[in-house]
Amino acid sequence: MNQDDQLPESPDSLHEISRQILTLADGSGADNVRLEISEWRDGRWRLTGLLALPINGESRLEIVLLKGPPTFFEAFEAAAVLPEPIGVKYVNAPAGVNVRSGPTTGHEVLTSIPYGQQVELLKEGEWDLIRAGNITGYVFSELLSDKDPFALDLPDGAFKFEFWPTLYKEVTQHFGENPDLYSEISDGFLPAHEGIDLKAPMNTPYFAIAPGRVTSVSDKNWAGEASPYGWHVVVNHGGGYSTLYAHARADIPVKVGDQVTPGQVLAYSGNTGFSSGPHLHLTLKKSGTTLPGWPPDYIDPWPFLEPLYNEVAAPAGNLREGYLFAQGLDKRGSDMAIAKLNLNMRQEPDSASPLLAVVSQGSTVRILNEQLQNGYYFSEAAVIEEAQPRKVLDLPQVESFDVLDYVKGDGRQYEVRNATAGQERFQIREDGLTFYLVKNHHWEKFFYDNDFIYRDIDTSPGNGRYYRLTDPDRQFGSRWLRRKMAPGQTYTQPRRVQFYNAADGSPSAANSGNVIDTIMLVAHHDRYQFQTGVEMEDVLEFHWVMNENDHTPREKYFYARGLGMVGWARGHQDPNTPAWSAVAEIHKKGTRDPFEREEVVIV
Ligand SMILES: [Zn+2]
Repeated sequence: MNQDDQLPESPDSLHEISRQILTLADGSGADNVRLEISEWRDGRWRLTGLLALPINGESRLEIVLLKGPPTFFEAFEAAAVLPEPIGVKYVNAPAGVNVRSGPTTGHEVLTSIPYGQQVELLKEGEWDLIRAGNITGYVFSELLSDKDPFALDLPDGAFKFEFWPTLYKEVTQHFGENPDLYSEISDGFLPAHEGIDLKAPMNTPYFAIAPGRVTSVSDKNWAGEASPYGWHVVVNHGGGYSTLYAHARADIPVKVGDQVTPGQVLAYSGNTGFSSGPHLHLTLKKSGTTLPGWPPDYIDPWPFLEPLYNEVAAPAGNLREGYLFAQGLDKRGSDMAIAKLNLNMRQEPDSASPLLAVVSQGSTVRILNEQLQNGYYFSEAAVIEEAQPRKVLDLPQVESFDVLDYVKGDGRQYEVRNATAGQERFQIREDGLTFYLVKNHHWEKFFYDNDFIYRDIDTSPGNGRYYRLTDPDRQFGSRWLRRKMAPGQTYTQPRRVQFYNAADGSPSAANSGNVIDTIMLVAHHDRYQFQTGVEMEDVLEFHWVMNENDHTPREKYFYARGLGMVGWARGHQDPNTPAWSAVAEIHKKGTRDPFEREEVVIV
């Protein structure tokens, strides 16, 4: 039986280089014969695929192979004789599975696939014939499952992005852009840019956008070759959704199988792989999706990111109304915007009109009339008053505070309750210029000088581990807050978070890495009532914000003068963390026995 008629009429369409005739051993009554497809590369034959060809009881099979670039495998694919997938399965072995060239453990391992990975099922048996990426081969069927082992049983439509994945709300390349470039570098596999690029300077963290499980941490692709994504992390969110975070630094703080929460650091920007400069490339897939022109599963992440992008705090402070030049505004949602730079607020929509005040770069603007007038929007925003138009701005005179009076308390014990009714006892313990915030048995170490309050060791992660903060120019401790701060001021500090094992003081790589934190003194409250009903006087409110320009809070901290930390709230939506904790009861000095603080080994 000649298989010529199974192959294309015109070999030209496959850029034929040569033809070979193969005669295969008989199938001894089997219905099909297995054919191994190889290509010559790096001085040896390399298996690239397997075919099951029908022989219908014939004992001999002659077949013409077209040798077309780049592989035999693609020649067969073009000839459409590959078995069609009959479904999908998932790797259901925590250690992953080997894909072999034949259905026994004696066959060569072609590649291995991680736990939870989806594969195409070509033929079912004791050994399933599967395809994963461009590798076709056999996997022992008991190691595969019909169900996604990481699936979180997410109801349809419930998936959403809960956390902006970088420190910067800036898109540098959208999904579907630059078709020529991406089609060329992917050999036609991709019709255009298959994800979204976000600003992420070197060493800034990538955050998980939603809860899920890490299914891959690698710098390789399916075939074990260098990945264009460089070092990357894949998270399965259930419901068929997964996200990929690319171009990371090699020291990735999560590992395959880790359960992650929204806002958890997955990696740090590292400019690895096919990247023209440091940035976060984020790919979103939804299994079963088919977008015209796209390979299966790829979808545009922007509709999921947009609600977070548009989430901005309402303007607050010294509010004024006036005209702002529209090109200086970055619109968010229907009537909100962010000032892209310091903007002049004018009385009329005209650059010659009197200057009313100045709106600072990064502040929120409410657009009061969406009708553009001469390129201006009539808007409301917090302003810096300017007495003399067109003069260099002076910083507004605002009261500044010695933050130490608030962060370091007087040693009273007090109870702090959280949103899920858990309670801890807090106490500040002072030792010279060092003081400890003791929370039940956990503690945080602080110290200070004339200019800064420093944070050093924190044992609150528990599970036999603690971490220590250092600045790039210091051996221990990290500048946390300036001693003197005024509401509206921020303090930004790059630092290293290094975890250690509490039992022997040895370093622990998981969750360790470099971060850049910005803390803002948001307000001074004469009186502040907490969620517990307790009201405190003289309270400073700090926010850990996204960055100098984006003041979206990641966490909020409240300190009462003379007592210490009295409140905390999360800005993110991580359901695994109580939404807040706040002071519930303050004990008079000497009315409570001292309590132990845990010991850890510090090398
Ligand atoms: Zn990209």
